[in-house]
Amino acid sequence: MPIATTTEAAFRPVYLAACTETLKRALAHAPFYQSWRALDPGQDVPAARRFAALPVTTKRDLRRHMPHGFTHRPVELKAALAMGEVELVSTSGTTDDRSSVLWHQPWWDASERAAAGLHAGLAEVLARAPHEAVLTNPLCGATVCHVGDLPMAERTLGRLLFLNQQPDPNRWTPAECDRMIDELNRFQPELLEADPAYLAILAHYAVAHGRTVHAPRFITLTYEFPARVQLRQIRRAFPGVPLVSSYGSTETGHVLTVCECGTFHQNTASCHIDFQPLSSAHNQPRTGRILVTALNHPWLSLVRFETGDLVRLADTGNGGRRSVAAADINAPCSCGRNEGLTVAAIAGRTRDLTFTTTGVAVTVDQLDATTEEIANLLSYRLEQTTRDAYTFRFVSEAGAEARVQTAAVEPLTRLYGPDARVTARRESFIAPEQSGKFRLAQAQFAWEQERMFGA
Ligand SMILES: [Zn+2]
Repeated sequence: MPIATTTEAAFRPVYLAACTETLKRALAHAPFYQSWRALDPGQDVPAARRFAALPVTTKRDLRRHMPHGFTHRPVELKAALAMGEVELVSTSGTTDDRSSVLWHQPWWDASERAAAGLHAGLAEVLARAPHEAVLTNPLCGATVCHVGDLPMAERTLGRLLFLNQQPDPNRWTPAECDRMIDELNRFQPELLEADPAYLAILAHYAVAHGRTVHAPRFITLTYEFPARVQLRQIRRAFPGVPLVSSYGSTETGHVLTVCECGTFHQNTASCHIDFQPLSSAHNQPRTGRILVTALNHPWLSLVRFETGDLVRLADTGNGGRRSVAAADINAPCSCGRNEGLTVAAIAGRTRDLTFTTTGVAVTVDQLDATTEEIANLLSYRLEQTTRDAYTFRFVSEAGAEARVQTAAVEPLTRLYGPDARVTARRESFIAPEQSGKFRLAQAQFAWEQERMFGA
């Protein structure tokens, strides 16, 4: 099976050494990876080829074998957990895919610092340890996230202010929106880190009610796919503030961060990434899933972890090819950074793929791109109910419902196929999932995620 993997030529020796060391100690000492040893082509083989020969670590594996299966120091772990040297924290996600992971704060902090270094302006601001406000689901796992009413002082941890106390932002009252805007204006953060779905709702409120919101130096968007309609609302409330997207998870640390030129770069200080394209039937060789290996973690051994997300590689000028060769993975970027994977876009979750009427995969990013043609749209979810039937649930600006209902059908039919049966249905709100994340698309019939990749 021809699966592309990262090329060794574009990496520094220190990175390759970290890859080799991570593989060595995981295969030698982490109980979960004992059964992988027989598949390892051996230490004389370049790390990239060794990674490519190994299976995938799934969220289900984490649920079943964390923590002892995923540490290369199983004998010392109990004492280290008791002393607080390492912690076991819950990851975000639905009940089904919620798990726990070994958490070492210094490793996380180093990963975060290295990721910020991938964006020149952001690194400069972070170096000053600035005031930073956080707007996410309050169940995000951080220690001072909280559901319920707490005064601002109790939601402030040093330079950090946690704004939200409500699991569903659709339920924010005008008083809560005003409180968050007032707190931003008092706290004057230089950075605002936000889940784009949540910030879009607050931004829409601010614009609709004529509220001026403090403009931070940067807004970093993370936690979930930033939909174009959300970006539109955020830009209206924060005109001129640069939006910096970053991608990571509780399990993997910070994985990809957008540079000042708009390209996502791999955080090679703390992770290795294997890229597996969608199978050729889907005709998008530069889109695929990423399997992330945590590097330099003193406690956690996590190799080729299936994050559940898709990326679209930056174009190297070989876009017409049917497959991605190893050398095509490090596209040049005008920022000058040349190490690791370069990614044009996070394409959404694998489980949120939908399909054209002929069965070709449509990523959340492709679906989302069609919404640029739909004016006055505030939020949406596309539900594919059968192989050729699609329901576009949407919320629009007041008074624009009928216009959006009509405007949505044509671009969606173009995307899914001339025989697609598209129905647009207005809603008063789109609810988040139990995890607090918003699902933009869903195919409501059985299909196998694992069969989407490889030849
Ligand atoms: Zn760049």
